[in-house]
Amino acid sequence: MIREVTGIETIRMLYLQLLYRCNFACLHCFHGERLQHADAFTVGEAAGLLTLMRDEYGTEAVTLLGGEPFVYRELPEVVRYAKEELGLRVEICTNGYPRSKASVRPTTPSAGPADSPAPSTPCARPATSGSLPVRR
Ligand code: SF4
Repeated sequence: MIREVTGIETIRMLYLQLLYRCNFACLHCFHGERLQHADAFTVGEAAGLLTLMRDEYGTEAVTLLGGEPFVYRELPEVVRYAKEELGLRVEICTNGYPRSKASVRPTTPSAGPADSPAPSTPCARPATSGSLPVRR
C-alpha cells in the first residue's frame, strides 16, 4: 500500500507508536487528550506490522514510541520479537522516568536490552526536564 501510493520501496527505520498513555501529563504534550486513550497496538498487531515492514520494505531498525513505552506492559515481548525473530535494531524513545525499578530495563533473558534507550523529545529537553509542568 505504501509502495503503491508513494513509490517508496525501502523504509530502513520505522517509528512505531505503541501507545498514547504516559506516566506524565505534561502541559506542552502534543498528544493532549490522547494521553487517556487505550494502547494503539496489541503485541500481535505490533509484531505483524514489524514483520510486514521488514519483509516488504527492508526495515532494519525500529524506534518504539509513546506516550511512554515503559508503561506498555508487553514492551519486553515486542523488543524480544523485533530483535530475536526479525533481527531489527531497537531503540526506545523514553522520558527516562522509571515507573519502578522493575520497569527500568525492557529485557528478556534471551533478548537482552534494547539497543538504545533514547531520551525522547520534547519530553527530555534540557530546558524542561526536571521541572516539567504536569497536568493531574
Ligand atoms: S513525558 Fe512526553 S509523552 Fe509523556 S506527557 Fe510528557 S511530553 Fe507527553
